[in-house]
Amino acid sequence: MARVAHCSCGLLRAEADGEPVLVHVCNCIECQRRTGSVLGVSSFFSKSEVHIQGTSKLYVRDGQEGRKVRLHFCPECGTTVYGEADARPDLIGIFVGAFADPNFPAPTRSIWEQSQHPWVASIRRSGTFPKRRQPEWLDDSSRLAKRRAIKEPIYYSRRPPCGMLAA
Ligand SMILES: [Zn+2]
Ligand SMILES: [Zn+2]
Repeated sequence: MARVAHCSCGLLRAEADGEPVLVHVCNCIECQRRTGSVLGVSSFFSKSEVHIQGTSKLYVRDGQEGRKVRLHFCPECGTTVYGEADARPDLIGIFVGAFADPNFPAPTRSIWEQSQHPWVASIRRSGTFPKRRQPEWLDDSSRLAKRRAIKEPIYYSRRPPCGMLAA
């Protein structure tokens, strides 16, 4: 089954045949900076099963032990769609969010947990919503206070999600 990943504007596309050989979550600092989020989710396919369309800009960063990681992003919208690592030259990594497919195979590994944001593991208990939170809920400070009082975990009650909010 062919799956298509693409950037925000659609100019850079990666089409993958077959099933990914691995899907993982990476909590490393580099993935946090690459995504602007707190973790990266990557799927890996055999190079022969991936077809790239569109031009990309390349950002090369250092991996471990002198190896390089090559990240391809759309020059127009900046989304990183795929990458290659010296460690596995036979594979192409395609970033799972670019498939925008909730039925994509789930990750089976979580790596670099030493730099995982501590609330990531508990976010399912934080109050979940099929879409966004209702705006009125945001203003409902009494309900928030009630949740705090019964120590129901909410993701920003234990530690602010970023340093800027810590003051
Ligand atoms: Zn784009
Ligand atoms: Zn990473």
